[in-house]
Amino acid sequence: MSIQTVGIIGAGTMGNGIAQAVATSGLQVVLVDISDAAVQKGIATVAGSLDRLIKKEKITEADKQAALGRIKGSTDYADLKAAQLVIEAATENESLKVKILQQVDAIVGEETIIATNTSSISITKLATSIKKPEQFVGVHFFNPVPMMKLVEIIRGVQTSDATHDAVKAFALVLGKSPISVKNAPGFVVNRILVPMINEAFVVLAEGTASPEDIDEGMKLGCNHPIGPLALADLIGLDVCLAVMEVYLEELGDSKYRPAYLLRELVAAGRLGRKTGHGVYKY
Ligand code: NAD
Repeated sequence: MSIQTVGIIGAGTMGNGIAQAVATSGLQVVLVDISDAAVQKGIATVAGSLDRLIKKEKITEADKQAALGRIKGSTDYADLKAAQLVIEAATENESLKVKILQQVDAIVGEETIIATNTSSISITKLATSIKKPEQFVGVHFFNPVPMMKLVEIIRGVQTSDATHDAVKAFALVLGKSPISVKNAPGFVVNRILVPMINEAFVVLAEGTASPEDIDEGMKLGCNHPIGPLALADLIGLDVCLAVMEVYLEELGDSKYRPAYLLRELVAAGRLGRKTGHGVYKY
């Protein structure tokens, strides 16, 4: 089955980014959200992003119009009937996602692959929400989607080879570089990244070096584009803490214990850039 039309649930940060990546690759998109305002905001974000590409002379006005012409916005799940692949990219909430997946499952064709862009919910567990769990898979895009090459393709216990291969081929059509991952907390990238950030807080709390020197060390010593503490401020210290708590609980290994300093800064409301103060002041 070739994928010609992709349904996307949620027109927020990730949903509109995925819509842009799909539409600029020549495939049709049905972009669904709960209100017209949310759908229109998502499409306007895509238009703004394409305008920036025109300014950089990467695409033409005609390319932009063609891409926008391939995105059909909707608040009606029935419009997903035409899709060979539906990607759920709605708010990160398990019971909401289960409800959405059941709704999608009731509408789409027998062969349609249903995917989720979740960052933290078990693919194996979400797969049980639909009639054919072998046709369920995780496709974890990175933010901002049009720029970031990586897609983690996550197999739940039930995911079939055919489903995995079809979604991998789809990621390649988008010009992405997919990696294949077995379902596990944090998949691959976040599972390694967030404990590294946590360790930077341990090193900071021990007084081993200043925040600036820790970040400089990791930038120059490991070729990272940004230091772990500056990255924590960007992601949100509360998000980093919540992720460590999930790893600790799900994996039951004390090596995932959140750094005490991370807890303290979150308790103080120093969540990073979004509150104007985290490790650094903004
Ligand atoms: P967001 O808050 O920007 O967008 C979520 C959208 O889902 C909103 O527009 C909301 O109106 C919509 N929505 C809520 N309920 C809905 C429903 N019943 N039907 C249709 N639409 C509905 O969130 P986001 O940052 O785009 O995250 C979406 C998903 O992607 C989450 O699962 C998140 O964990 C994952 N993710 C996020 C990032 C990131 O950096 N933001 C990266 C990778 C994965």
